Amino acid sequence: MGRRARLFVVSGPAGVGKGTLVSLVREARPSIGVTVSATTRTPRPGEVEGVSYYYMSDEEFERRVAAGEFLEWAQVHDHRYGTLKSEVERFLAKGNSVILEIDVQGGDNVRRVFPDAVRIFVEPPSWEVLVERLRGRGTESEASLKLRLKNARRELDYAHTYDVRIVNDDLDEAVEKLMQTLEKYENE
Ligand code: ADP
Ligand code: 5GP
Repeated sequence: MGRRARLFVVSGPAGVGKGTLVSLVREARPSIGVTVSATTRTPRPGEVEGVSYYYMSDEEFERRVAAGEFLEWAQVHDHRYGTLKSEVERFLAKGNSVILEIDVQGGDNVRRVFPDAVRIFVEPPSWEVLVERLRGRGTESEASLKLRLKNARRELDYAHTYDVRIVNDDLDEAVEKLMQTLEKYENE
């Protein structure tokens, strides 16, 4: 039996380590696709258009929503974020699995339009560790940090609705668990 290309959703609160985990999995498995999302937020220093996100004005985002170009989108932390259908299709069409790193509302929407999606939730070992990581990343202003932590509490309540939960404590162990999860569902 060959591997089946699957759509994976990875969610979890800001600062839990989703980006870190996904980029390490990608190094080990370069064929796996990771979609670049569209957002109306402004780029952080070091972020690159078309690599980190597709940065869009509210007007352009709205136009693309109306044109049916999004697989899912949601309002997160005061801005809109969404996955373009074209992003997902470019990987699945080549027979490669694809990972969507999206918030819990997006995760819920994907379940509706793509019931075959495998939804993975990344959890912190504790609340204190989450706060430390988000602060330690040094990317957020105090206001942005507060907003992300407030939303994090709500996001954690969704963990039980996901197919798989991974605690990101030891990084190597969490990467291993994520790799095993991808393989398990691809070979299902
Ligand atoms: P997210 O994408 O979920 O917002 P990041 O991948 O940016 O989170 O990680 C947030 C911070 O936590 C980063 O500084 C990252 O280096 C660090 N980090 C991620 N995973 C771990 C881990 N298992 N142990 C310690 N630090 C981690
Ligand atoms: P950040 O601004 O820190 O890059 O991302 C904030 C949040 O937006 C994260 O929780 C991330 O998972 C979520 N997000 C990023 N891209 C998308 C997307 O395409 N759709 C949805 N629904 N959420 C997204």
